[in-house]
Amino acid sequence: MASGIAQLAQDLRARKTSATELAQAALARARARADLNAFITLDEAGALATAQRAEGRFANGALVGIPFAHKDIFCTNGVRTTCASRMLENFVPPYDAGVVEHLRDVHAVSIGKTNMDEFAMGSSNENSHFGAVKNPWDATRVPGGSSGGSAAAVAAGIVPFATGTDTGGSVRQPAAFCGITGLKPTYGRVSRWGMIAYASSLDCAGVLARSAEDCMYVLSAIAGHDPRDATSVARGLDNYNAALSTTLQGIKIGVAREYFGAGVESGVAAAVRYALAQYEKLGATLVDVSLPHAHLAIPAYYVIAPAEASSNLARYDGVRYGHRCADPQTLEDLYTRSRGEGFGAEVRRRILVGTYALSAGYYDAYYLRAQRARRVIANDFVEAFKQVDLIAGPTTPTTAFKLGEKTADPLAMYAADVNTVAVNLAGLPAISIPAGFSDGLPVGMQLIAPAFAEGPLLAAAHQFQSATDWHTRSPGA
Ligand code: GLN
Repeated sequence: MASGIAQLAQDLRARKTSATELAQAALARARARADLNAFITLDEAGALATAQRAEGRFANGALVGIPFAHKDIFCTNGVRTTCASRMLENFVPPYDAGVVEHLRDVHAVSIGKTNMDEFAMGSSNENSHFGAVKNPWDATRVPGGSSGGSAAAVAAGIVPFATGTDTGGSVRQPAAFCGITGLKPTYGRVSRWGMIAYASSLDCAGVLARSAEDCMYVLSAIAGHDPRDATSVARGLDNYNAALSTTLQGIKIGVAREYFGAGVESGVAAAVRYALAQYEKLGATLVDVSLPHAHLAIPAYYVIAPAEASSNLARYDGVRYGHRCADPQTLEDLYTRSRGEGFGAEVRRRILVGTYALSAGYYDAYYLRAQRARRVIANDFVEAFKQVDLIAGPTTPTTAFKLGEKTADPLAMYAADVNTVAVNLAGLPAISIPAGFSDGLPVGMQLIAPAFAEGPLLAAAHQFQSATDWHTRSPGA
């Protein structure tokens, strides 16, 4: 079982272990838990070479020599990057994503690439060309998606942290389902360069780890301006480590009434209410708030995200890179068969929906209306943050559902994102933290903060985790 980053860093400095030993142990755990299907590619040679370079540099920072895994959506120089798609099954990028560069620069040791929903489209990790991932708490259940492999790998103790991406909840929802902590930073705080695009105005790199403290170490390494990403924000870095010790005295937490509406399981609501009571004990004040347009989030998201996806995925045409069909007869045949064979069912569905929403006759009725809804959803948060510092509620309406339970019903699957997508539409930072259990399955509580308030957000999560032990529970323990 991997322990927290600070403990591992201390052990490395005290020479109780070495980066090579930690990498080997993480690789061994990944192999021992092949049943979870959390990894698409293990990179033993790369991990051992990086670990070698890390030895002796442990005074340089908390992440030096710490093993971790990258979601297989981040381009890794020389290491296959599939996005869990047949389309990119054999794609070996010639460069590193910005996030990958940052973690390499601090000598963190990537042991490989984690499984995910194809092109990050999904909420259960069942849409992977490489097969579904299993939830370490209950192998008959989904780990959540789309960063399901990263969440399962952390929850099972294979690695202390993993990268993820969150377009509509893909870091927070799997973190909630797997009983770990998942941080989605403000849009533009972390570079999207080299992160395979799904819906560019929503895509955000994030972190999955056991604790807010561990998320803090990783965010401190990956945040920052990147001129190669036009939406990356040129803004100085905050000292997230120093922010962590801010207490909850005088903090106002808005309890969003819409997040406790119909469809929220009673066991989930009860666990989150209990966690909120703990926040009160720690000095926070709870304030009833309303996000009156919350019901528009799912319909707006499921127009905007597919619209952007249909445009982003147009590049996979069987010509430049990616899957190419055998013996194309005509150019048209090359395009249609390459794309038809390369993309899975859900990706094809999103491309069709997005193309339809953007087509001349329907643009005003769907895309433009969705953009208007996006604006009023964002304004709800602006209004609420005039009264409170943070907004809280259940990350997901249910605990992890059964494998196969929602695969035949895309709309039921989309509803799993009801509490997370609005945050992406508004570009805000949010975190999901373990907040108890319902019928033996982890429950996640979401905290949402104003743009660029990652410091206060992490502090609020950390103060809760200093007083509770939900985040230390692990499956099978
Ligand atoms: N489940 C949502 C979707 O399928 C969100 C995915 C994500 O955040 N990448 O689009």
